[in-house]
Amino acid sequence: MSARVRYAPSPTGSPHVGNLRTAVYDWLLARKTGGAFVARLEDTDRDPTRYKPEFIGDIEQSLDWLGVTPDEWWVTGGDYGPYVQSERLPLYQEAGKRLMDMGMAYRCFCTEERLAAMREAQQAAGSPTGYDRHCRQLSREEADEKAARGAPFTVRLAVPREGATTYSDAVYGDITFGNRNVDDQVLLKSNGWPTYHLGVVVDDHHMGITHVIRGEDWMPSTPKQVLIYDALQWPQPAWVHIPLTLGKDRKKLGKRHGSTQFVDFIRQGYLPDAMFNFLVLLGWSPGDDRQIMSRDEIVEAFSLAGISRNPAVFDYDKLRWMNGEYIRAADPERIAALCLPYLREAGLMSGSPTDEETAYVAAVIPLVADRLKVLSEVADASRYFFEDPAEADPKGRRKWLSGSDGAARLERIIDAFAAAPDPLTPEAAEQIIDALPAEGESRAPFIHTTRIAATGATAGPGLFELLSALGKARVMSRLRRAREWVAEA
Ligand code: GLU
Repeated sequence: MSARVRYAPSPTGSPHVGNLRTAVYDWLLARKTGGAFVARLEDTDRDPTRYKPEFIGDIEQSLDWLGVTPDEWWVTGGDYGPYVQSERLPLYQEAGKRLMDMGMAYRCFCTEERLAAMREAQQAAGSPTGYDRHCRQLSREEADEKAARGAPFTVRLAVPREGATTYSDAVYGDITFGNRNVDDQVLLKSNGWPTYHLGVVVDDHHMGITHVIRGEDWMPSTPKQVLIYDALQWPQPAWVHIPLTLGKDRKKLGKRHGSTQFVDFIRQGYLPDAMFNFLVLLGWSPGDDRQIMSRDEIVEAFSLAGISRNPAVFDYDKLRWMNGEYIRAADPERIAALCLPYLREAGLMSGSPTDEETAYVAAVIPLVADRLKVLSEVADASRYFFEDPAEADPKGRRKWLSGSDGAARLERIIDAFAAAPDPLTPEAAEQIIDALPAEGESRAPFIHTTRIAATGATAGPGLFELLSALGKARVMSRLRRAREWVAEA
């Protein structure tokens, strides 16, 4: 069966990385079954402390960037539009009216004051809070009359007072709840706008959604929605609740664990495929111990049966490792292009580079890319290619650039490179270093001394490639400048 699945973000902020995992599962089920991935904007909660339309762009950018652009959504439309809830109000009102006509919903005229007093009394008595069904007693005629007089009202679901309802969850199995424990929830607010529960049910039904995939934290809402489906005599979608994402300390993933906003990961320089691969493994497994998987392999292996009930731990170190693997496997030209903005931001490269600068960057980035876990590290990793190092690593300096030994070795290196060909190829650099040790001397001290003199660092990319990329002029000026380091040591 081809699935129609939906991602239904509320514009309450920039999307959370755990939330985007839902979109990944949606997209996968749609691709796997040859179905459709739908996104719908749930914007009916206009409380100014929550409604933040300025973040809709982040939602769109995140989906596009991750490569899970919906087949139907508010950006490009589709056959089941509009895909924004605030543009679908008549549909919710029609459903509310239908429920009232069927006797499955009723108007509630209770004032805020009465509801607050009721809650207070319930709390004082230690009993569960919930609507006391005061207005459920009103006859339809009484209610019509009050409404006609202009009394404000909400519409509530007339939840069965007895019996139990069972729904089936693809991950958590059959879930049974006592109807008595479900509140006569508000479906339509006094301004005629729907609550989340009515909106989600009406839209999922009218949009032909076959699977509702969402975080396990929505499970307390599901009984309410199941009862709305039953009341409307609509078939239920398949319910698929996915486990929460936790930090390493097993607490809900939050700011103190690290970045949680998806756009932060984009800025830090993760690759979309790495992020996709990492997110899918948060709570899903292919059934073997594969970790790095291509998108095609994941589509091939994906099934709802592979989703675990256990909470998934968001391991930042694993994500960094995985991203490093993706960087190493990627086309170096692509990585170089993706690194440019970070170099510019760090002031290592101008906005309009000359051809020479562009060629230099193209030579440098492949040398440092192997060590990157995220692309934003490129500036620090490659800084010494662009700026002469202000100081040398103290330990390395003590070891390789001090005393008469160090001074003599540096002079031999300087003399040897002064005679180097220009351009300096990696092969020529290697020959020069190879020729430096005299009978009985080893090559290692020359390698280490050259490296620290030329870069100020004790580790980095392969020395010969590095010297070649720096070019003869830079190498010479830095070797000479290292004399100061020896003198001060
Ligand atoms: N609008 C809800 C949210 O913000 C959707 C929950 C659901 O998927 O039903 O996540």
